[in-house]
Amino acid sequence: METVFIGLGANLNDPTSQLRNALRALETLPKSHLVCSSRLYGSKPMGPQDQPDYINGVACIHTELTPEALLDALQTIELEQGRVRKDERWGPRTLDLDILLFGNEVIQTPRLTVPHYGLCDREFVVYPLLEIAPELVLPNGMKLADICTQLPLNDLTPIE
Ligand code: ATP
Ligand code: MG
Ligand code: MG
Repeated sequence: METVFIGLGANLNDPTSQLRNALRALETLPKSHLVCSSRLYGSKPMGPQDQPDYINGVACIHTELTPEALLDALQTIELEQGRVRKDERWGPRTLDLDILLFGNEVIQTPRLTVPHYGLCDREFVVYPLLEIAPELVLPNGMKLADICTQLPLNDLTPIE
């Protein structure tokens, strides 16, 4: 059983409902158990600015799935919630589910980079993660709480 943190994001088609639906879907993942989730936060888009603001959150699950099987399941949930994959990077989407951390594993395959490569730079990941895992230490030994002290909030605001 591994402890896994999943980043959730959406900025289309009622993003708050998208995240709530996604959390319900995470409860039904096979060989897994949803442990907890952060509050939902409003955040500014990365990359193209001509798109709506985002809603983000982080969930913690315990799972016996392999990392690849979990990625498959998360991508299925994204598609079920209407995600259309486009060429534009960081463009608007109904739902994004990223594996932030998979236990203490370091994974580098064509399909998976874990820890997620943007984890330490994204306020909409780091602060919700800190909320549910204040003592978290990354596989490289860095404390999440120390990363937060270097990272501006950039208008990140809890919405609930
Ligand atoms: P970003 O990765 O910068 O957050 P994104 O989430 O919008 O951008 P996606 O289009 O959702 O990117 O995913 C592109 C590919 O990233 C996926 O097909 C997947 O194989 C790969 N990927 C690599 N590492 C991860 C990870 N840790 N979690 C989810 N997907 C990952
Ligand atoms: Mg992403
Ligand atoms: Mg993604």
